[in-house]
Amino acid sequence: MTSQKPIYESICLIGLGLIGSSIGLDVHKKNLANHISGYARSEKTRQIAKKIGFVDSVHESAADAARDADLIIICAPVGAMDSIAAEIAPVLKPGATVTDVGSVKQAVIEAIGPHIPQGVNFVPAHPIAGSEKSGPESGFAELFQDRWCILTPVDTATPESIEKLIQFWNALGSSVEVMTAKHHDSVLAITSHLPHLIAYSIVSTASDLEDVTQSEVIKFSAGGFRDFTRIAASDPTMWRDVFLTNKDAVLEMLGRFSEDLSALQRQIRWNDGDALFDLFTRSKETRSNIVEAGQDTDAPDFGRIQIGDKE
Ligand code: NAP
Repeated sequence: MTSQKPIYESICLIGLGLIGSSIGLDVHKKNLANHISGYARSEKTRQIAKKIGFVDSVHESAADAARDADLIIICAPVGAMDSIAAEIAPVLKPGATVTDVGSVKQAVIEAIGPHIPQGVNFVPAHPIAGSEKSGPESGFAELFQDRWCILTPVDTATPESIEKLIQFWNALGSSVEVMTAKHHDSVLAITSHLPHLIAYSIVSTASDLEDVTQSEVIKFSAGGFRDFTRIAASDPTMWRDVFLTNKDAVLEMLGRFSEDLSALQRQIRWNDGDALFDLFTRSKETRSNIVEAGQDTDAPDFGRIQIGDKE
């Protein structure tokens, strides 16, 4: 599919990993910009980006990449955004838009916002799409198709710059919702951050057991454990930054979760089968609603090919 006409003349991607490369691939595929410049921290990633070709020019510094761009998308870990914004601020073109894809929004606004010069628009964004894979080779053009992207605009951005960014994310295949950064951080604390914390925790618990061997944990993982290991294989830098920058919302949700877990513990101890049955039934409904909303398929076992099946 090719769009009628590019939405931006030139786009700059700072950070060329899973999200940056997926944006680059889809922008090229749909002709959403006439030029994509890119920057990544390591020479290795810059070389891979050149070889795959999801950017038109690769630069040695973030400032060089951002200099002439109409849209600058910061696709680096949240903890790196402050220094990236400080570096690119002096070269930003008047009328340009700076956005990001960070998984936390209040902290990103605090990190990037103060560096944005007058006349430049800042529109924070978070595509709710991703995977446990990272790096420039893990990207694919369809990553944002039929997903959501949340925008949390700040007061200084012009309505036109927000509209244009909405148009851009729509062109990448995503529906857009606008909300406050605080609300975003609460919603994501329960839908993304807490599930990752639980997955990291359960995988760590399994590796510390004394009376169950590691080979048994691996061998019998299809009982449920392996689905947690997929989430727990996510990038450690990205997730360290998420928990350190969305501390309040995560701790709030963790408190609620711990209370509910204690209630479950009590129901098991006191053989309260009815309470367990009711909760499990409600959980199944949540799963059905997610499938109905097109956010997953109902293929058995996550659509995995079973051992012995033919592809
Ligand atoms: P990734 O695959 O690990 O890529 C990160 C990129 O940022 C790499 O190109 C890396 O360069 C660069 N980078 C790292 N530290 C940097 C620094 N200090 N200065 C400049 N560049 C730096 O990560 P990702 O999954 O694309 O995530 C990027 C952002 O998207 C994060 O803010 C994350 O919260 C957000 N996000 C991720 C997902 C997901 O599922 N992964 C989903 C939605 C949003 P090198 O390769 O040279 O190290």
